[in-house]
Amino acid sequence: MKDSFLHKGLRKKLVDDLVKKEIKNDKVLNAIMQIPRHLFLDNAFVNFAYQDKAFPIGSGQTISQPYTVAFQTELLDVKPFHKVLEIGTGSGYQAAVLDILEAQVFTIERQRDLFKKTKEFLPSIGYHCMFIYGDGYKGLPKFAPFDRVIITCGAPFIPDELINQLKIGGKMVVPVGDGDNQIMHLVEKISETETSITTHGNFSFVPMLDNKEN
Ligand code: SAH
Repeated sequence: MKDSFLHKGLRKKLVDDLVKKEIKNDKVLNAIMQIPRHLFLDNAFVNFAYQDKAFPIGSGQTISQPYTVAFQTELLDVKPFHKVLEIGTGSGYQAAVLDILEAQVFTIERQRDLFKKTKEFLPSIGYHCMFIYGDGYKGLPKFAPFDRVIITCGAPFIPDELINQLKIGGKMVVPVGDGDNQIMHLVEKISETETSITTHGNFSFVPMLDNKEN
C-alpha cells in the first residue's frame, strides 16, 4: 500500500482536529501531516488510521492516539540535534515524529517481535533512529546523557535511572500511574540533585513493564 491524495486529505483533517484540541506547535503538526500513519496499522484497521484514536499493533500493544503523540511531543520541546531517548518503540510512529523534528533518536522496546518488526519497517519508509531491544527502566547508559527522554507507556513511578541519564537542563515527559489512568508529568533536571516536576492532565497508556518477556 502507498500514500495517496486520499490519505493526505484524511491527514489534513486529522491535523485540523488536533489544532481544535489546542495542539499549537507547527513543527509537530507538520510531522503528523507528513507521516503515513496508515502504513503503521494492521491492514484491518487502515480505514481508521486517521481518526484520533489508539489502535492495536500486535503483541497486545497499541499505537498511541495522535493527540497523545502530539501532546507529549509538544511538551517535550525537541530541538534539532537533540539526543532523545524514547521508552516504548511500539509501532515506531512516535520515533518517526522525533526523526522529522531532526532529533537523534534512540528507542527501546521490550517485546522482541515488535522490536524486530519496527526496526525493519521504519527505515523502509524513510525514518531513521537507533533501535534497542531492552528494558526501558534501565535506560541506555552507553549513550547517556540525553537532552530529552519520552516514555510512551504508563510508568508506575518516575524511574530514577532515567533522571540520572538526563543532561542538566534536560526534560523528560512521562505518563505516571497504574492501571488505565496516567497523569502526564514533565520532569526538568535543574542540577545533578534537583528536578522540577509539573503535571499536565490525564491520559491512558499500556503499562510500562519491568523484566523483558521470556
Ligand atoms: N511509541 C509507541 C507507543 C507504543 S505502546 C508508538 O508510537 O507506537 C508502548 C510500548 O511500550 C509497547 O510497545 C510496550 O511493549 C513498550 N514497553 C512497555 N514496557 C517497556 C519497558 N520497560 N521498556 C521498553 N518498552 C516497554
